[in-house]
Amino acid sequence: MLDNRPTLPPEIARRRTFAIISHPDAGKTTLTEKFLLFGGAIQMAGQVRAKGEARRTRSDFMKMEQERGISVSASAMSFDYREYRFNLVDTPGHSDFSEDTYRTLTAVDAAIMVIDGAKGVESQTQKLFEVCRLRDLPILTFCNKMDRESRDTFDIIDEIQQNLAIDVTPASWPIGMGRDFLGAYDLLHDRLEIMDRADRNRVAESVQINGLDDPKLADHVPADLLAKLREEVEMARELLPAFDRASFLNGSMTPIWFGSAINSFGVKDLMDGMGEYGPTPQPQKAAERQIAADEKPVTGFVFKVQANMDPKHRDRVAFVRLASGHFERGMKLLHVRSKKPMAVSNPVLFLAADRELAEEAWAGDIIGIPNHGQLRIGDALTEGEALHFTGIPSFAPELLQGVRAGDPMKAKHLEKALMQFAEEGAAKVFKPMIGSGFIVGVVGALQFEVLASRIEQEYSLPVRFEPSQFTSARWVAGPKAEVERFVNVNKGHIATDNDGDMVYLTRLRWDIDRVERDYPELKLTATKEMM
Ligand code: GDP
Repeated sequence: MLDNRPTLPPEIARRRTFAIISHPDAGKTTLTEKFLLFGGAIQMAGQVRAKGEARRTRSDFMKMEQERGISVSASAMSFDYREYRFNLVDTPGHSDFSEDTYRTLTAVDAAIMVIDGAKGVESQTQKLFEVCRLRDLPILTFCNKMDRESRDTFDIIDEIQQNLAIDVTPASWPIGMGRDFLGAYDLLHDRLEIMDRADRNRVAESVQINGLDDPKLADHVPADLLAKLREEVEMARELLPAFDRASFLNGSMTPIWFGSAINSFGVKDLMDGMGEYGPTPQPQKAAERQIAADEKPVTGFVFKVQANMDPKHRDRVAFVRLASGHFERGMKLLHVRSKKPMAVSNPVLFLAADRELAEEAWAGDIIGIPNHGQLRIGDALTEGEALHFTGIPSFAPELLQGVRAGDPMKAKHLEKALMQFAEEGAAKVFKPMIGSGFIVGVVGALQFEVLASRIEQEYSLPVRFEPSQFTSARWVAGPKAEVERFVNVNKGHIATDNDGDMVYLTRLRWDIDRVERDYPELKLTATKEMM
């Protein structure tokens, strides 16, 4: 990753666009809330709690999804902290893994990885981390819940290094744990941070000291904890690498902070870390060339579409990551896919509690553009150049089911609903060449339930998902004659996706091997780039 900070216009240089990744329950919601609190975006803790709690059960999750307001305003949140502008992009919270998660991570420049101090690296953390690694995203680690019985500090660091194959450097070192947790020693600023147990929303008391030999330490830390701290920090400095900004920015080293989100402890230090060391808006890749954040013309790409935020209006909001330039409300941009101009007159910026009209935005920002379906995932908006952003994947679904309207007369309605969810990226919809009906494909099983519930709610259309003979799908490409020869003898397996691209539906893994053997010039792929 380039650090192009010195040359950037100040408004771009102060932006930090990132996501928080974690396993459910590690404390992502709590940490987000404290960020918003210290960023002045909410007045008191508790305002975004509904989100974390709502996810606990399936039905609650769906209810939350129906109350679109909450999840929408939380999709991308902008707030100021010190001289920085933070854009926090939410990764979908439910434990089912979906393409949305991948796409969200294409819109950010860095990630914060939250782990539970008692549990260490959990399965979902690992998966999300791997996605970040694909893009070499810089990662800041927050080890949470240190006010509870936690694992040994060296153990936790060792586990991250081993499981995630990344160098870990302590930015802070915890003093005591569980009931004896006192605070942390800030290794980057030689400060002692003492947790306030009386008031959970109060920020830690900071004591500037002169290294670990400073006698002032004894005024704040009991002798036994102080001896342990000195010994551990000495060992850590010997055994662990020192913070190196270049290694952090290229994704090979993560600084770790120890804290307690619920007690507001360590949160500001983490935010300071994001501001001081985090990457400025990074260059974005397009098929034609790389786009630098400080290029004058405005460019951006759609990484997420959310529909039916207001069921009465069937409106959609396309979330656009600005790759370059200074955007102003009312600008006419080129919608590259349709080659049509688009006047962006009512863009929204997502502030914590509600949406606000965006008068202006800069490279790195996320803006929402209400539209009637023209904007799709992967689409580019520019000031005239025909750019195609790359790296926004579409995955072959891992689960396929047939779907039928409860009322056969409503088949057309169903088609409309399905197409809309397909465009939103919530599912893949395949229309088989032979027969009627649709095959719906998703990445996680929970998505079927969410879809059924949304179709019923938003279209008043009860639907039934039923088992399908097919188990996976592959996009088909190759020389025309070969494709025709293939299609002619496999009609029962051929379908088109919602973009009209051809797919091959398979029953067995063996089907794919057979086709690859019989049609050597044919290409079956499990991913398709959206552009
Ligand atoms: P998420 O699922 O990652 O969003 O996690 P939440 O933020 O909803 O937190 C999960 C649970 O852990 C909640 O009951 C929180 O109150 C609790 N929690 C969060 N941070 C801390 C912390 O620092 N210490 C303790 N003891 N509990 C915490």
